[in-house]
Amino acid sequence: MNAIQASELCYTYEDGTVALDHISFAAQRGKITGILGANGAGKSTLFLSLNGVLTPKSGQVLLAGQPVRYDKKGLLELRCRVGIVFQDPDDQLFSADVYRDVSFGAVNLGLPPEEVRRRVEAALERTGVSDLRDKPTHALSYGQKKRVAIAGVLVMEPEVLILDEPTAGLDPQGVSDVMKLLLDLRDSLGMTILIATHDMDIVPLYCDYAYLLGGGKVLLEGTPEELFAQP
Ligand code: ADP
Ligand code: ADP
Repeated sequence: MNAIQASELCYTYEDGTVALDHISFAAQRGKITGILGANGAGKSTLFLSLNGVLTPKSGQVLLAGQPVRYDKKGLLELRCRVGIVFQDPDDQLFSADVYRDVSFGAVNLGLPPEEVRRRVEAALERTGVSDLRDKPTHALSYGQKKRVAIAGVLVMEPEVLILDEPTAGLDPQGVSDVMKLLLDLRDSLGMTILIATHDMDIVPLYCDYAYLLGGGKVLLEGTPEELFAQP
């Protein structure tokens, strides 16, 4: 079952740059799908189109088999169901302390306080930052900030979790911590995870399937074994 899929997606920026040129892909439920490609390949534009920050010029996105609508109601729903973790956690963390940062999205949804508390506790626990809850966000290490940013998206309980370069800027221990967290989300919650990366080392270790983008097109797709097979 595909949690999210796109067919023939196109996006052109106002200056005429064609960023997505008839991209089709599918991410299976409960799997980690890698979106690979050099800078400028179209990865960020694709992700922003999948959660409705950008509206594709043509083509279709299907979420759990249903076409996404880009009207006001459709977009609100989309932003809850498809969560994005940006590359730089400083783009995502604004509050005075970790607890408030993680609760922000859930409070914004207008959930009852008890439900907010339950979700925040679960997200802090799962991302391993419970002990940091009272810390000012700016006092955290980069790796800790990454995990807090992920927690802040998990409180929305999205069906699809998208991460832009989740390992960028992390030391080997930080990379392994973040990737193990993603494996845990996949394996214990059955989450569907999409990661954009140009870190080829993580693909065979952590991705179930991957797409290689270039120039706004899908150049190759397959399992890591298929993609990295010697010709
Ligand atoms: P990636 O995430 O793979 O690095 P992007 O989606 O950011 O790729 O970029 C795809 C193409 O769109 C590139 O040619 C990039 O220069 C261009 N692009 C990205 N953002 C903008 C923008 N705001 N305005 C114009 N062109 C952009
Ligand atoms: P249970 O069947 O016991 O509810 P789950 O695996 O569904 O177990 O959930 C375990 C915990 O993870 C719960 O506290 C739940 O709120 C939380 N949880 C479930 N789905 C998500 C999700 N998509 N994002 C974040 N947290 C979630």
